[in-house]
Amino acid sequence: MTFPLSESKSAQLFERARHTMPGGNTRHMITFGPYIIYADRGKGCRLWDVDGNEYIDWVNNFSSHIHGHASPEIISALSEQLKGLMSCILPAEAELELAELLVDRFEGLEQVRFNNSGTEAVMVAIKAARAYTGRSKIMKTEGGYHGQYDLVETSFLPTPETWGDESCPSVLPFAKGTPQSLLDEVVVVQFNKTEATRRLIREHADELAAVIIDPIPARLGFTRASKEYLEMLREETRRYGIVLIFDEVFCTRAGYNGAQGEIGVIPDLTTLGKIIGGGLPVGAVGGNREVMSVFDNLAGPLKVSHSGTFTANSMTMVAGLTAMRMLTPEVFEKLAGQGKRLRDGLNREMEAAGFIGRANGEASMSSIQLFQQPANTYRDFVHQSGPGYLQRMLRLHRHMLNQGVLMATRGLMVGSTAMSDADIDETIEKSGQAFRSYVEEDGYI
Ligand code: PMP
Repeated sequence: MTFPLSESKSAQLFERARHTMPGGNTRHMITFGPYIIYADRGKGCRLWDVDGNEYIDWVNNFSSHIHGHASPEIISALSEQLKGLMSCILPAEAELELAELLVDRFEGLEQVRFNNSGTEAVMVAIKAARAYTGRSKIMKTEGGYHGQYDLVETSFLPTPETWGDESCPSVLPFAKGTPQSLLDEVVVVQFNKTEATRRLIREHADELAAVIIDPIPARLGFTRASKEYLEMLREETRRYGIVLIFDEVFCTRAGYNGAQGEIGVIPDLTTLGKIIGGGLPVGAVGGNREVMSVFDNLAGPLKVSHSGTFTANSMTMVAGLTAMRMLTPEVFEKLAGQGKRLRDGLNREMEAAGFIGRANGEASMSSIQLFQQPANTYRDFVHQSGPGYLQRMLRLHRHMLNQGVLMATRGLMVGSTAMSDADIDETIEKSGQAFRSYVEEDGYI
């Protein structure tokens, strides 16, 4: 394809969309050019847009489609369910089965409750931590993404001008108009800075309800938090009765037992989403019985009420159960092998093209970065990125699109079980062409 093309059907649809939607979209993360490309259909690891262009889909709806598009197993399970019941006020057995599967796989989960998104799961987890501890503040890492809840959006994308002292980062609003009273409820720390974080935990110990962390954040190109850092968080939160939350909405993909299983540090609460819904909207919060007891309406006065019109609807539960059952340890192993094959291939192609970058990541989570050393903190990521990073990333994104490879604008590429080794190799070859055309057309970065 040739992107952008002003007479394309996508360009026309986008023009139309601008009248009824601000910016012509309802998801800012998909706005990457003069217009948005509109999807027509998907099958396996391929997507086709309304102009008939074909892409190998490495975004998989930001990870939720771990079995690719139109998975026969999920279609069949959902078709059956659709004939019976979409959702109703009563629970279905599938909810229980999915809960049992999750509790069985994740060491940190003795009990679980469902939500409709990762954002909601994080929001509910924080409520639980507050009710359990009787404290109000939360600690989060600079640059950490935990969904759209304004409390945890703080210091999501800070810049050097405002991010403040290294050992005690500023708490910065993300959305304009975020109240100061809300910012006062957050303590921001630097990811992987063990001693500085320990100091801040101790300083705020009496006020902290929770420490929330994504242990393998997409923002850092899926560089893991060090074991030392996570063990320190576990030790200090336990010492001061603070709830440790692992946000595994994305990084559950790390393995059969989730990121916590791969890392070997077990939180009090875990938030889940994406792949556990089999492609339909989902979230979940789970944890040990003690903290989860705040939701127990049979055990005395209820501390945290939690419901929702579509919570645990049968369609999501059935799709999630089907998808998760298909993800055996062997399947995770295969996905991880393919992830490595992709990263090795991309790194080879970048080097051959004289394109300075690296494919970072683990398991089926990969990310192209336009620098060569893994970033261990958000500040390190920003320093290594240099000015105009997003613009350069968007240029690469355009070259990749023109080769038929769909990655996310920040370089994220996540695999699916619908991919064969041949699809991976085709991606590597096409990406190589994209790196070469970038260097030829745009010069070096
Ligand atoms: N936490 C993390 C780590 C995420 O990656 C995301 C979504 N990308 C969320 C929370 C929010 O999930 P959702 O988009 O389903 O609200």
